[in-house]
Amino acid sequence: MAQLSDRVRGIVRADLRDLEPYDPSFTPCEVNLSANENTYGMPEAVRAAVNEALCTVPTNRYPDPMSGGLRDRLAARAGLARENVCVGNGGDELLFNFFLAFGGEGHVLLDCPPSFGVYRIYSQMVGTEVLDVPRDPETFEPDYDELAEKAADASMVIVTTPNNPTGNLAPREQVARLCSACPGIVMADEAYIEFAGPGASAEPLLAEYDNLVVLHTLSKAFCMAGARLGYVFAAPDVVDVLGAVRQPYSVNVFSQVAAEAVLDAADAFQPTIDAIVTERARLTGMLSALPGVRTWSSAANFVLLRVPGARRVRERLRDEFSILVRDFSATPGLADCLRITVGTMQEDDRVIDALAAILEEES
Ligand SMILES: *Cc1c(COP(=O)(O)O)cnc(C)c1O
Repeated sequence: MAQLSDRVRGIVRADLRDLEPYDPSFTPCEVNLSANENTYGMPEAVRAAVNEALCTVPTNRYPDPMSGGLRDRLAARAGLARENVCVGNGGDELLFNFFLAFGGEGHVLLDCPPSFGVYRIYSQMVGTEVLDVPRDPETFEPDYDELAEKAADASMVIVTTPNNPTGNLAPREQVARLCSACPGIVMADEAYIEFAGPGASAEPLLAEYDNLVVLHTLSKAFCMAGARLGYVFAAPDVVDVLGAVRQPYSVNVFSQVAAEAVLDAADAFQPTIDAIVTERARLTGMLSALPGVRTWSSAANFVLLRVPGARRVRERLRDEFSILVRDFSATPGLADCLRITVGTMQEDDRVIDALAAILEEES
């Protein structure tokens, strides 16, 4: 992990001296199952519609700053109004804006690690204290009783559902409980919700709780990781403050029209999402049949596994088999854990064959 130079450490803001940048450890590989992208690719007809939209987009004018057309489409799909939607340059930008608006000096984030590493980095960037309620080390389920108790003293709570990297889904009634308990703001990070089946989203709670923010992205289910398009649903005054702290033109014209085309054809992604869910069960079964491997059931498009010597296994997959997976073995609570994105059947067969070969040799 990169360290700041002594020269920069001497002039940078004091509380950023030990900042460790987010490092997805990317290496180009033939099979990339490391970043939870949709490896099935965009349906052809949708891709054609995206291409056509991109061809005619004018570049001499700034984009619509608040992306009205896009917000209308997102709102309509959720039965909400434009005023309930804010879009960003990926969900990551919206997370950063969330921390800018609701975190900072004197504010406390309640987190239930292991969770998405970006939360910690953004807390540190804006100087937010983090209060941890670690997940159960065996099941990775959060302790909702303790969370609800601690939420009373928190400015911000984030529940990742399904959780990255463990795959646990948070029941809607537990999200509701946190909204009731927290005097500040609660985010349900639903980056992977499309893989969790119908009715899994906390979104219906928006009608009841004006301190709930639901985060979504087109990066995972909708094949748009490269275009950087995220969005949140929240009460209009919450959207107003997120709008106030955001960079005015953060979503470029290409991403806006591409996202509109994708949303106009959103139903076309359902067969692929269903296929990934089916393949998730097959991959999980094959992984847990390998010697010494433990898996956890996942509501997302990835599977967490524990394997002896995970770090070395991951390096061998990369260097000898050109397969990239994500190593979490240095994360507290995730000793010897790897995360594998659910790929196509061919990709998953390849990772299983490689793992079987490595484990046989290492045993
Ligand atoms: C991928 C991801 C996001 C957002 O990703 P973007 O590509 O920035 O939209 C947010 N939260 C979690 C937990 C994620 O895994």
